[in-house]
Amino acid sequence: MSVTPVKPVLVGDNDEVQRPSREQALEAVRTLLAWAGDDPDRPGLVDTPKRVVDAYGEWFDGYDADVEKELSRTFEDVQGYDDMVLLRDIEVESHCEHHMAPFLGKAFVAYIPNEKVVGISKLARVVEIFARRLQTQEVLTNQIAAAIESHLQPQGVAILIDAEHQCMTTRGVHHRHVSTITTRFTGAFKSDAALKDRFLKLAKG
Ligand SMILES: [Zn+2]
Repeated sequence: MSVTPVKPVLVGDNDEVQRPSREQALEAVRTLLAWAGDDPDRPGLVDTPKRVVDAYGEWFDGYDADVEKELSRTFEDVQGYDDMVLLRDIEVESHCEHHMAPFLGKAFVAYIPNEKVVGISKLARVVEIFARRLQTQEVLTNQIAAAIESHLQPQGVAILIDAEHQCMTTRGVHHRHVSTITTRFTGAFKSDAALKDRFLKLAKG
């Protein structure tokens, strides 16, 4: 059975937005340093724009990665395996689109195959690609589920993300130990309460 590839919606995928030059990005960091009240030309800060721009390259390299490619290679010889495949404790390092502040936590990704499976490392990679773009935790949760749905057409997908948002812990309300849990259930995970329950129990160990 062939799969019609569905391109996941790329947050910020706008043809009219042109990526600025590296020099423009360096200048933007210098502006923020001055806005914070410091002197961008003092010795301790002179190389900071370069480091920040390089760090951005890493934190946001999901824009240059291709989820479709990661999930395109599937295996059909599953010898009748038709139960849950669950990845626990996938590190989530992302940034919220509201503050560009980090949110850090874990993702739990499960699906029930329908004749085909994907390499398990690819699932972790999909989490990483979406996490390295700007979005909200809610959107991130849905994006991961939608990508697995469209490429594997499984019997169901379950996603849980548990993360702490630094825009909430280090600013604003300063609530240090609040974590946010988001979930998305499709197919069998949505219709079968016992299955959903088993996922939640396994995910939480
Ligand atoms: Zn935020």
